[in-house]
Amino acid sequence: MDMVVPDSHPRKASLEVRERLLEGFNDGLIAEAGLIAHGRGEALDYLLGEATRDPALTALRVGVGLMCLADKPCISVNGNVAALCASDVVDLAGVLGGRLEVNLFYHSTERVGRIIRVLGKAGAGEVFGLQKKNVVAGLDSYRGLVDDALWEADCVLVMLEDGDRTEALKALGKKVVCVDLNPLSRSARWADVTIVDNIVRCLPLMVEFAGEAAGYEGDRLRDLVAGFSNEDNLSDMEKLIRSRL
Ligand code: ATP
Ligand code: MG
Repeated sequence: MDMVVPDSHPRKASLEVRERLLEGFNDGLIAEAGLIAHGRGEALDYLLGEATRDPALTALRVGVGLMCLADKPCISVNGNVAALCASDVVDLAGVLGGRLEVNLFYHSTERVGRIIRVLGKAGAGEVFGLQKKNVVAGLDSYRGLVDDALWEADCVLVMLEDGDRTEALKALGKKVVCVDLNPLSRSARWADVTIVDNIVRCLPLMVEFAGEAAGYEGDRLRDLVAGFSNEDNLSDMEKLIRSRL
């Protein structure tokens, strides 16, 4: 038995998530493209059995380990993440001593402001994302501009991120931990550690494990991340999806 079965019936859980997402759209946190991205995620989650599978559990422990080992971890937040998981990302940043930065595919200062307010209500202190003064090479116009938290980070957690941006962050020498339900996406393939799971399930598990890992010695954390192959993990996740087709 390798599934972590959600408390309520899976379909009910995913319908509740959809409601929250639509609320986020109506509140102006999410652009139309965010709804489409969510739909892609739902389809893949259905094939995964709407459950956190064993390889994803392994990847999330390694991903948290990598963030614990970092000097300046940063969590990149977009509209979908804010609408679905604001308190989880705030909690994770708190446990890891990491920074939060709002980073949108379709930038709008108003939307960044709204997302910062949502994170603030969830208990966040400083949230970066309004001062876009650093240029990430390889991306066009606004998409290549980031604030200091992402710019200075040595390890970044990205969720539902575009492949181009993950590639550009890697080119800057950063470690990238990614949450993406599509094991074949460019983000999933470019990241150092990819957690193929729904953000609504894996973020609370990441917060819980970060609390435990905060007490680990450096060597124990290094042992945890050593020997992990993202390629093998993605291939295991792909096999699980194929087995349900
Ligand atoms: P890429 O640019 O990486 O090749 P893409 O263009 O298909 O992939 P993007 O729009 O750039 O995708 O990013 C959205 C990704 O987020 C999709 O792979 C989608 O499956 C995934 N996704 C959507 N909702 C969730 C969710 N709730 N949890 C985790 N992943 C999700
Ligand atoms: Mg993309």
